[in-house]
Amino acid sequence: MELIQTDAYTWEIPQTGDMNVPARIYASAGIMEAVKKEETFRQLINVASLPGIVGRAMAMPDIHWGYGFPIGGVAAFDMDSGVISPGGVGYDINCGVRLAALNLEEKEIRPHLEDLVVALQKHIPSGVGSTGTVKLSLKDLKKVIKQGIPWALSQGYGRDTDTGRTEEGGCMKNADPGDVSDRAMDRGKNQLGTLGSGNHFMEIGVVDTIYDPAAARVFGLAEKQVTLLIHTGSRGLGHQICDDFLALMTKKVHKSGIALPDRQLACMPVQSAEGQAYYRAMACAANFAWANRQILLHMAETVLMHTLGISPRDLGMRMVYDVCHNIAKTETHVIDKEKRKVCVHRKGATRAFGPGHAGLDPAFQDTGQPILIPGDMGTASYVLAGTQKAMEETFGSTCHGAGRVMSRKAAKKAAKGRSLQQEMEKKGVFVRAAGRGTMAEEMPEAYKDVTEVVNVVHGSGISKKVAKLRPIAVIKG
Ligand code: 5GP
Ligand code: MN
Ligand code: MN
Repeated sequence: MELIQTDAYTWEIPQTGDMNVPARIYASAGIMEAVKKEETFRQLINVASLPGIVGRAMAMPDIHWGYGFPIGGVAAFDMDSGVISPGGVGYDINCGVRLAALNLEEKEIRPHLEDLVVALQKHIPSGVGSTGTVKLSLKDLKKVIKQGIPWALSQGYGRDTDTGRTEEGGCMKNADPGDVSDRAMDRGKNQLGTLGSGNHFMEIGVVDTIYDPAAARVFGLAEKQVTLLIHTGSRGLGHQICDDFLALMTKKVHKSGIALPDRQLACMPVQSAEGQAYYRAMACAANFAWANRQILLHMAETVLMHTLGISPRDLGMRMVYDVCHNIAKTETHVIDKEKRKVCVHRKGATRAFGPGHAGLDPAFQDTGQPILIPGDMGTASYVLAGTQKAMEETFGSTCHGAGRVMSRKAAKKAAKGRSLQQEMEKKGVFVRAAGRGTMAEEMPEAYKDVTEVVNVVHGSGISKKVAKLRPIAVIKG
């Protein structure tokens, strides 16, 4: 496999063999050294070999091995000759991140941090298979997955302005509950308003550094301000939809004449009955995830108010943005100077629309879209802005996190005999985890250095640094 460095932050794998397009990896020399595993790049080459792929198969600097497609992967497919693949979206459909800002500074909250983390853990359902306080009838669940955030708003969760601060307004309109299996509905019905397990978290942080004061002002962020970051997705519902459609497509793909380099890449033509049904079901899971994060933020607001004994006004919670990092979407992009509709897959990759994009709320027309990049529970997370360069190079996409460097197993081994909770507390971060083993699997060393990852997307111009957040209290699934 040939790997050619094209500039400080990009590497190309030229089109050879079965590849329909070349592949590109965004990375620094240091990251390249860390991720240089044949199997991950093999996955990228496999994606480049799928029918109807346009431009390039791309990997962001948080790239690591995933199911079929690598995590940190971006691929766009022609609407007529291309495919849609559940593995190109991932199991946790619309796993994503939501950031809110508060009217508080660290010094006002620091004395209460331990109480806060205990209260959050008590009131926010988390852990494998956790069920929520929102009990839904089948009829209501259908409304949730059809409407997304507008449903949550109709039930009194959050504020009307939240939709403008959410990708897609918090609702994919093509969602059709008729394409969702009974099993998926059953798994979803008690899980609205739950965090889930492992990598999912709710984190209190502080704005540590502002890089772009004008954009930070528009996003609603100021230095020293306290923030709340939520990472979760579509829970059992999305997982089951992925499972259902992987099974269906694995069965049907051979009859469609598509030769797969890896069976985990099971896919169908975008316009086929199965492809369209997946798109509609995936949209249902996306809407569920948005409603889930909407409700979780509202629950967190209540916990913070009660624990601190302050009014909603004094807490001053407001949305910065909510963005997904596991999704496939029909979007219009300029390809070879021509406007074309394509199906963009972002798997462990975040939308990064630049200034002036019609899909953004008027508030973000000058700044570009807010992008949320969680790092790890002990280091930092970043807020970035989308750019025109992302529109030109990456179908308006960027990285989604630091990305793992250690397998869960390796992390557990490295954590043996240590008290991570105490280690973190010494650094000023209060952490509680629901799952046994979560602390170890999720320790900061298990992830790449988020600053190095962010420097790549900033340096290459596909995103712009706006602010850096420092964690002070975290609940993990
Ligand atoms: P994923 O969706 O791929 O599981 O995770 C997204 C990213 O979240 C990871 O790549 C990692 O960098 C980041 N992350 C995982 N756990 C935490 C946490 O507890 N706090 C923060 N701030 N980031 C985390
Ligand atoms: Mn997830
Ligand atoms: Mn995620």
